Amino acid sequence: MATGKKAAAAPAATAAPAVAAPTARAAPAVAVPTATAAPDAAAPTAPAANKPRTGQTGLQVLRDEIGDCQRCKLAPSRTNLVYGVGNPDADLVFVGEAPGADEDAQGEPFVGKAGQLLTKMIEAMGYSRADVYICNVLKCRPPGNRNPEPDEVASCEPFLKRQLAAIRPRMIVALGKFAAQCLLRDDTPITRMRGSFRSYEGIPLMPTLHPAYLLRDPSKKKLAWDDLKAVNAALAKVGIHPPKPSAA
Ligand code: URA
Repeated sequence: MATGKKAAAAPAATAAPAVAAPTARAAPAVAVPTATAAPDAAAPTAPAANKPRTGQTGLQVLRDEIGDCQRCKLAPSRTNLVYGVGNPDADLVFVGEAPGADEDAQGEPFVGKAGQLLTKMIEAMGYSRADVYICNVLKCRPPGNRNPEPDEVASCEPFLKRQLAAIRPRMIVALGKFAAQCLLRDDTPITRMRGSFRSYEGIPLMPTLHPAYLLRDPSKKKLAWDDLKAVNAALAKVGIHPPKPSAA
């Protein structure tokens, strides 16, 4: 768990993973909302709190309540409901769009090609998948990986919000337009939203590009990496450091 407490742990010496091709080593000007950010944009300002470790209970209660969900039209075609994975008390949560074929088969978010890139990005930040929490707006796979439809988002979004309420992270990274638009109630294109801190119910949220998009256009990896470095820098300002050195 990457908290201020954990920051005391001796960082392991690891080679920087070759992801997102980070080139600029200078500290980015982060934690300060840019002019394009919403008025309530917020980087964390308070010192890292010693938050109670109640995430596991809250997440389990919610998972039990979701059960063998039949609330929307995705239920009949799914293999597994993909709830979420990682540290139930994480400081940092990544929210994606919806499970794909690999995730549906394994019941775990972000385990396919896009997931492997996300894992590398998380590791480049100095975290492991087990340090953070990873989930999606939709818990079931849309057939053929089509985009989530509004009724599906409406049905599933309350579960995402309750997951976030249970975890109470210090920072959220919204991966791609569906996560950002859903959590921020803002239909600004992700290419314009990304890179500036916003606020989701008082929690700083960084919208960034979805790893699947980065696989289609690797030239955009640097932008996403800039966003993740900004997240690390903002967390550092409140005493939250990754367990390992970041590749930046
Ligand atoms: N894309 C997502 O948005 N989520 C996943 O879990 C996998 C791919």
